[in-house]
Amino acid sequence: MNVYDSDKMKDIFISHNVQPTEDYLNADFVVLNTCHIREKATEKTYSNLGRINKKGKKNQKIIVAGCVAQAEGELIQKRAPYVDLVIGPQSIQSLDHFLERNDLSKNSVTEFDAIEKFDTLNQIKRNQNSKSAFVTIQEGCDKFCHFCVVPYTRGSEYSRTVYEIEDEVKSLVDLGVVEFTLLGQNVNAFHGNDASGQSHSLASLINAVSEINGVERITYSTSHPVNMTDDLIQLHGTNHKLMPFLHLPVQSGSNKILKLMNRKHSRDFYFDIIEKVRKAKPDIALSSDFIIGFPGETQKDFEDTLDLIRRIKYMNSYSFKYSPRPGTPAANKEEINKDILDERLAIIQELLDEQQMEYNRNFITKTVKVLIDGAGKLNGQIKGKSEFNQSVALEGEENYIGQIIPVQIKDVKMHSLIGVRA
Ligand code: SAH
Ligand code: SF4
Repeated sequence: MNVYDSDKMKDIFISHNVQPTEDYLNADFVVLNTCHIREKATEKTYSNLGRINKKGKKNQKIIVAGCVAQAEGELIQKRAPYVDLVIGPQSIQSLDHFLERNDLSKNSVTEFDAIEKFDTLNQIKRNQNSKSAFVTIQEGCDKFCHFCVVPYTRGSEYSRTVYEIEDEVKSLVDLGVVEFTLLGQNVNAFHGNDASGQSHSLASLINAVSEINGVERITYSTSHPVNMTDDLIQLHGTNHKLMPFLHLPVQSGSNKILKLMNRKHSRDFYFDIIEKVRKAKPDIALSSDFIIGFPGETQKDFEDTLDLIRRIKYMNSYSFKYSPRPGTPAANKEEINKDILDERLAIIQELLDEQQMEYNRNFITKTVKVLIDGAGKLNGQIKGKSEFNQSVALEGEENYIGQIIPVQIKDVKMHSLIGVRA
């Protein structure tokens, strides 16, 4: 979602004749789009700001955007007084106004107005080079998991209208995009209206988007298990533009911890959903997020998580050490011993890596469809993404970039596949 917001800010700059550059130390404007999800991400904001302030050119304008801006606006002004503008994730459209006035000085905008955000952003011309694009369809979250800052930094749940989303997809198709990732903090809670005011589910939106000429592939992220409705599950078996890939975070395999986390589902509920999804689309690739060492997690709770992973068999997953976040209900609970935490994280990551290798090994000799998105690491190589969301590299000409081509898999590496054109 931050990538999407960054692209939107880039589009605003371009509309004011400010061109993007990688050379941020010599740029007129630097925008740091920040993440508040874990402490480490937040601390990076301050270390990066320090470096930019020290090494950046004179009179450079520094803007801090994103969720750290939202949560710690005043602290940023204190810790980094040289910052010119602080804008929260629901206020990025205000950048247009500041550039128009040519004055950013010491402003801070952290309103939650998703309607105004998208109304303004809809007017800005989109620039897009790649064949794959994100489209935010839903923002914010009303779930309030006890570890998570998202409901506080991105605000309450808001769905864009179906026609706004269709317009954005069509304009991206005109720019050559073929693969769409529909984004939301809780994307399957989507309930956007059509022009007549009737509300649509995510499944209904995906069907509408898949009928747009030029759209080849659709995926969505991130879903919550309680919003995996039957229409969405069935769609995986019937809509062939929907990629056979589902990221469905479970966070923990222990019922006790799920309850303490306020996840609103049990492990059996999750198993049932996965069973239904696999019935609808037997070869679907699954991934998840896991939080290790949530306060109260015993060895038995941790083993329940390992057991869940062994039973589901994921194609890949992300695992994080629990990070207490200010203002969340779990923030003041007693933390798990650091050594135990490190040990558990290493064990879970080893298991997830093993599963990823095993999953990928099953693809040797099989043919996948790869959307080629650029040159590979080695000379003469190109790379892209399979319909199962795997990274694939092969020898080939760069004129394949932008095409979806069949590739037979010959070898697997830890996080990627190697193949030849089939
Ligand atoms: N809306 C999504 C994910 C939001 S945040 C969902 O409900 O699944 C992305 C991931 O960051 C989460 O899935 C979780 O695994 C992780 N995360 C969130 N807060 C965290 C915290 N305080 N400590 C460690 N990991 C966290
Ligand atoms: Fe955070 Fe996701 Fe829980 Fe919402 S559902 S509070 S975004 S982890």
